[in-house]
Amino acid sequence: MSTSASPRHCYFNSFLKFVKYLSLLYNNFELIFVEEKNKNQAFQCSHCHKWVFYDRSIGTKHRNHCPYCLWSKHLDLDESGDRKSACQGEMEPISLTFKQEGINKYGEAKQGELMLIHQCLKCGKISINRLAADDDTEAILKIFEKSKQLNPEAINRLTEEGIKTLTEQDKQEMLIQLFGKNYEKIT
Ligand SMILES: [Zn+2]
Ligand SMILES: [Zn+2]
Repeated sequence: MSTSASPRHCYFNSFLKFVKYLSLLYNNFELIFVEEKNKNQAFQCSHCHKWVFYDRSIGTKHRNHCPYCLWSKHLDLDESGDRKSACQGEMEPISLTFKQEGINKYGEAKQGELMLIHQCLKCGKISINRLAADDDTEAILKIFEKSKQLNPEAINRLTEEGIKTLTEQDKQEMLIQLFGKNYEKIT
């Protein structure tokens, strides 16, 4: 009987095979993990279920909401894109506002950029977010119309946070920002 056939050697071979199997498993796991990471280039909207792809030409650094329905997810804790929040609640686009840009040299309020106001359905957090270049303008206009029926509780909440929701008086500026100065020909 040769030594290679000894039971001890067989056990050793089996052990080696097992280690090899484990390392293969680990490598595959790593591969799967990397593929998952690449998948982060796209996500499925949990509200309208459409697939949304990240695109560098959207004008903002982080895609914060779905460009079709404009709903978002409560992922960020302290700042845009930090993805540190454990809440994960759905964030409803409740209204629009202009970014506060301070006062110009003539003492007038500077015209700020049109922003979306989201409120988390789970924890109530309010956040203000930039629009992306490919956001659906029809959906934005629908939010403007819907925001006229905001409940008093939500309006109080916005006032407490110093957020001024758009009114009919702001409509012209909103249309200019969405469609340009010749908006009347487009809308
Ligand atoms: Zn959506
Ligand atoms: Zn939340």
